[in-house]
Amino acid sequence: MSMSQLFAIFGNPVSHSKSPLMHNLSFKNLDIDACYGRYLLKDGKKLKETFFDLGLKGVNITVPHKEDAFNACDVLDPFAQKIGVVNTIVEKEGKLYGYNTDAPGFLKAISEFKEVKTVLFLGAGGTAQSTSSILRDEGYDVTLLNRSEERLKKYARDGFKTYTFENFTPKVYDLVINMTSAGLEDESLPAPKEILDAVIPEAYACIDVIYGKETPFLKLARNYGKPTKDGSDMLLYQGIIAFEHFTNYTYTFDEIKPIMKKAFML
Ligand code: NDP
Repeated sequence: MSMSQLFAIFGNPVSHSKSPLMHNLSFKNLDIDACYGRYLLKDGKKLKETFFDLGLKGVNITVPHKEDAFNACDVLDPFAQKIGVVNTIVEKEGKLYGYNTDAPGFLKAISEFKEVKTVLFLGAGGTAQSTSSILRDEGYDVTLLNRSEERLKKYARDGFKTYTFENFTPKVYDLVINMTSAGLEDESLPAPKEILDAVIPEAYACIDVIYGKETPFLKLARNYGKPTKDGSDMLLYQGIIAFEHFTNYTYTFDEIKPIMKKAFML
């Protein structure tokens, strides 16, 4: 008797995650004998042990375990190796293979904005880390603006232009992107309004990585008449790329997309 393959998302918290719906819909519609659950992982150091105890074939990893996931892998793809952050693991012959699909998902999500060269990131947390790296690899000029200095130090060491609200002088940026959690569970803007009032009117478009709501940042951008985009496509695309890894590239991105997208309509 063949066993169905088990997948899961590890995180803390994890109850809000859309990933089980996205992946189970895709398994079902593609007739794959597999199931995807959610697991509240409290101790990231136990990731590997938990993975094998649960008999999993693959996992996605969300906050706050993406660095522990990196450390748990036996084999890393070159981009994950470079940034030190893993959000997708697949077991192959007893070894854990690690990937980062957030960054290519984000890159694909912003690819509809053509002729973009300069990008201003509001925020310098974990999501900014992988996405700034892939954008730079693709030739974008990325500047980071963050509330406090501490998180910027690593980016400055890596050669990015970094500013706090205190020492920032607004310039023209093609895209302004909210990479913070400001607006996720509150109504705050990711930067002082004077700064946003200076950079948004000059931008071609404004993007938020938060999904499922119009944040105060996107509302402000819309009021300036700018094209806006929330984080839904980023979430969808990182899921599709993870699914490609889970199924060993049996299906193409464009085959998976319309199926997984249904999870956003339920
Ligand atoms: P982190 O905790 O790693 O970083 C948070 C960042 O937000 C820091 O730069 C922090 O600044 C800043 N920040 C938080 N609150 C405020 C505020 N009120 N005003 C200004 N700056 C603030 O978070 P992540 O990088 O993990 O997540 C960032 C966002 O990305 C979240 O909203 C998350 O939901 C979203 N996300 C979306 C995904 C998608 O698929 N669409 C995937 C992953 C994440 P400081 O350094 O000063 O504390």
